[in-house]
Amino acid sequence: MRQVSVTASVGMVVLGWRAADDGLFLRVRGHADEVILRCECDRSHWIVREQYPAGAAQLLVSCHNCGQRQSYLFEGPGLPAR
Ligand SMILES: [Zn+2]
Repeated sequence: MRQVSVTASVGMVVLGWRAADDGLFLRVRGHADEVILRCECDRSHWIVREQYPAGAAQLLVSCHNCGQRQSYLFEGPGLPAR
C-alpha cells in the first residue's frame, strides 16, 4: 500500500475517498491503487470535508492532531444529490 505525505500531496486530483481504521484512503488520478494520506505528525487522524463551490468540487482535509491542512481538486461524485 502506497503512502503519501500531506506535504507531497499538493496538486493531487482525488477521485474518491474513504476513512478506515487504519487511515484515510484516497483514490487519486494517475494511481491504480488507493493511497493512504499520512500527516507529518504521524497521527494522521484526518477530518474530511467535501465542498462544492460553483464550478469545482474540493476535498478539504485537516489533521485532528496537529491542524495540518490541505485541499484537493475533487472529481468524485459530481454535485451531491439533493
Ligand atoms: Zn497531523
